Amino acid sequence: MTQNGKLILDIVMNSNAHLTAEQIFLQLKQTAPKIVLSTVYNNLNTLCEQGMLRKVSIEGSPDRYDKNTKHDHLVCKQCGALSDKTFADLTESLSAQLGEPILSYDLKVNYICPSCRKKYSATYLSI
Ligand SMILES: [Zn+2]
Ligand SMILES: [Zn+2]
Repeated sequence: MTQNGKLILDIVMNSNAHLTAEQIFLQLKQTAPKIVLSTVYNNLNTLCEQGMLRKVSIEGSPDRYDKNTKHDHLVCKQCGALSDKTFADLTESLSAQLGEPILSYDLKVNYICPSCRKKYSATYLSI
């Protein structure tokens, strides 16, 4: 792995914020001022291909990068907030339904987060 790759991996592993490439770039600039954004993208792609990181794509917002630990995601349809949540493992149930072993799955659950629910409760109650 390149020095930049190591630094990028470090930034993502030490954050719980599901950073975008731009946010990683800004953090990395503090230790590697000569870094350019395309280098960050290249390294992120390599790290994802190697399974060191995982990419989380959400419609309408830039891709985020995440630790490759086993967990699921909750996405607020109102404010776009992304949070980690570990649901009961579905691997067995999914492969039973498929009738074949599966490698992995990617679960994203959409909801309205508690703070949006509070803010918009009036709106939602009237629907
Ligand atoms: Zn929300
Ligand atoms: Zn996550």
